[in-house]
Amino acid sequence: MTTAYQIFIDGQWRDGSLGQTIPATNPYDQSVHAQIQVASADDVNEAVHAARRAAPGWASKLPGARAALLNRLADLIEANADRLALLETTDNGKVIRETSNQMGYAARLFRYYASWADKVTGDVVPLDVTDTAGLVVHEPFGVVACITAWNSPVAILCNTMPAALAAGNCVIAKPSEHASATTLEIAKLAEQAGFPAGVFQVVTGAGETGAALTAHRGIDKISFTGSPGVGRAIAAAGAANLKPVCLELGGKSPNIVFDDCDFDRALIGALAGIFGATGQTCIAGSRLLVQRGVYDRMVEGLAARAGQIVMGDPRLRETEMGTAANEPQFAKILSFIEAAKGDGARLVAGGGRAEGPGLDKGFFVQPTIFADVRNDMKVAAEEIFGPVLSIIPFGDEEEAISIANDTPYGLASGVWSQDINRCMRMMRAIKSGVVWVNTYRQAAPQVPFGGMKDSGYGRVRGQAGILEWLQTKTVFIDYSGDRRDPFSMKF
Ligand code: NDP
Repeated sequence: MTTAYQIFIDGQWRDGSLGQTIPATNPYDQSVHAQIQVASADDVNEAVHAARRAAPGWASKLPGARAALLNRLADLIEANADRLALLETTDNGKVIRETSNQMGYAARLFRYYASWADKVTGDVVPLDVTDTAGLVVHEPFGVVACITAWNSPVAILCNTMPAALAAGNCVIAKPSEHASATTLEIAKLAEQAGFPAGVFQVVTGAGETGAALTAHRGIDKISFTGSPGVGRAIAAAGAANLKPVCLELGGKSPNIVFDDCDFDRALIGALAGIFGATGQTCIAGSRLLVQRGVYDRMVEGLAARAGQIVMGDPRLRETEMGTAANEPQFAKILSFIEAAKGDGARLVAGGGRAEGPGLDKGFFVQPTIFADVRNDMKVAAEEIFGPVLSIIPFGDEEEAISIANDTPYGLASGVWSQDINRCMRMMRAIKSGVVWVNTYRQAAPQVPFGGMKDSGYGRVRGQAGILEWLQTKTVFIDYSGDRRDPFSMKF
């Protein structure tokens, strides 16, 4: 059965004005499971105007009332978690064991930011002036756009949507053309929860729809998750209208294993870093830096475990690795594998398309490991977004830091060592937005997440995540009764 989705504008479900749709394809068997509308620039314009009409009412709603709606949406996401997880898995091939967890996490993010709605306080600041009060207050931007990627549509949306709404902004979401269905389902649940018309809207379509949204002068702030190339275009669109942008642009994260690690835990952490989510995650630990004392053992151990990874229907609980999320991504991953072979990296596991019973129609890539990689090889230098690991040997801490930071990216990193002093030194030395020490791929609503360097700027989650959606206003209240000198600024 094919589901016909519509766009959600001003509390109404309707077709896009172009009369065009995009098929939503299941990457496991290439069947079309849904049709997605293409929203035109006119549709986007309508959504922006609806949001602007809704914005004053939403911003002035009592924080407790905003929180109640966010909590109701959390309850509905939880109640529908199995259905949402199955749909996301069908849409992008991510294994059900991860999409199920992500739906629970999405509900937690809504609850976390619901609890922030009445905790955004200002300041009363002592000034060097008598009888004058200095106040600092925080206010929402107004209407914000959230452009998301295909790898984890709901989790990425929930990095920004709950915080932006809790802060009093209206949100227009534009999911990737490759995986739009679950974002539209979230909109249905938001409608059911009772969010007023125009407060949360979804426009679907390809990059042109996103471009129409980010270029619109009625958008006050933009958040984007995706590739650095599109990130640059969106930052430029924001700059043209002098609007702030928050960017999350992926990485080439170093996962660093020292001789003194707990070997078995480090091996699992290395696997989780690259083969979790089929490597299609911005935080993938795609460069495994291993100290020479445990190098051969780690290469052998990883190659053996990679060969046992259970691939198959991502909707089954026993499946450990699903498909590439779509055909262009599949082709991109395979081309990187060929480039690594050409560059002389030593292939120790996988190395191509995965074939076998149940795999023939899907975009399956073998869990692939290259050893003895040099950091300047293409496979180690560029983001692949697939299950391809580069293992790089190192001698000492200094060399590890130098290789780890020798990348334009700075999103995530991992350190495996039982020496707390070394862990502390490494944590300080690595330029990345998150450092995992003796763990990898871990997240929590309470702490911020975001990139350094080319991985982007701005933060989601934690207190920083709600401050991202608030702007600061300063108020001076002069109760002195003085007749001041009008020709000199008062300091
Ligand atoms: P893109 O960066 O191309 O797209 C991400 C989002 O931006 C999609 O919703 C896309 O729409 C939209 N978009 C595209 N062009 C524009 C534009 N000019 N203005 C506004 N919005 C636009 O990522 P892809 O999804 O195509 O993936 C490509 C690569 O990006 C991956 O191989 C990976 O390296 C990286 N990536 C990084 C992610 C991360 O978490 N940082 C997540 C996913 C991918 P549409 O797709 O519908 O055209």
